[in-house]
Amino acid sequence: MDRRAETTPEISVIAPVYNEVQSLPEFYRRVRQVLDGLGLSWELLLVDDGSTDGSTELIRHFAKEDRRVRPLIFARNFGHQLAVTAGLDYCRGRAAIVLDSDLQDPPEVMAELIAKWREGYEVVYAIRSEREGESWFKLLTASLFYRLIYRITDVKIPLDTGDFRLLDRQVVKVLRRMRERHRFLRGMSAWVGFRQTGVHYRRAARFAGQTKYPLRKMIKFASDAITSFSYLPLQLATYLGFAAAGLSILAIPIVVILRQSGMQAFLGQATTLIAVLFLGGVQLISLGILGEYIGRLYDEAKGRPLYILREAPEQDGAKEPEELENEFSATELS
Ligand code: UDP
Ligand code: MG
Repeated sequence: MDRRAETTPEISVIAPVYNEVQSLPEFYRRVRQVLDGLGLSWELLLVDDGSTDGSTELIRHFAKEDRRVRPLIFARNFGHQLAVTAGLDYCRGRAAIVLDSDLQDPPEVMAELIAKWREGYEVVYAIRSEREGESWFKLLTASLFYRLIYRITDVKIPLDTGDFRLLDRQVVKVLRRMRERHRFLRGMSAWVGFRQTGVHYRRAARFAGQTKYPLRKMIKFASDAITSFSYLPLQLATYLGFAAAGLSILAIPIVVILRQSGMQAFLGQATTLIAVLFLGGVQLISLGILGEYIGRLYDEAKGRPLYILREAPEQDGAKEPEELENEFSATELS
């Protein structure tokens, strides 16, 4: 086989891994089964996001046994979105498929994604029509989140889709040039345009272990999503300001008339205090929202690398360095 064909597989599968030692062998087996069954050339990028449970060693082991497995080992935990980003930076296939390594995204669905891609779609996202093994709290917050995002952003991000999707090489190239720090990949891949379509699937329960997305991370993820795709929170201060100002202008003649007619209302300090506290609260919230955006601006201004690799996959000429200006590898330091 010539070298070029060897380094450009048809499909790159990108899977972020954070302490998934129990799911990994089954995950690897099923991915292999599906892709071999389709008779495609493929590579599997396993991005180790600072695991501490032995996933790292397991990934290295797979890579040693099977040259199609390419390990990316992070220097610490950078989070799911950045792990996927690293995978997109290093993948070489004609299309990339992003899926979770906990088997919640069934690898079998990849066949449907690839079929749509072959029909000519450049982005094929997987829509969760059912979700198994999730708490009602997760289902409710997720559903509210997707609907809120849909309403307040200009980019129409499809409802109930996660990061499980196929991206054509062209789209991957565009995404590589979007180096924003606080990432909402499903929004970014909707933003780029191209021909997009979805396929429905049943989201399975986790194969093993627990979710790595506690409420704290979910909130951070949601605020990253909102701040990167909407100015609505900033405009909220303006709307509230107009509402409060309008209300007080209306209140002035009413109070004057009531006083003139000898009413004893609005004496004492309670009313004043409530008004002051209310406005103080609104102002502090607006300031906080402003802070959210400024903090993110500050992060962008620092221009730090998005992630740090302890071990990068073997370089074999297929990497496109000019597209990876923000990428950073610890090995380059030595
Ligand atoms: N993950 C990661 N880094 C993190 C958290 C999660 O790489 O900081 C990976 C995790 O191993 C899994 C995927 O991202 O493959 C989705 O995470 P998880 O299953 O915990 O989220 P949930 O499916 O519960 O939303
Ligand atoms: Mg999961």
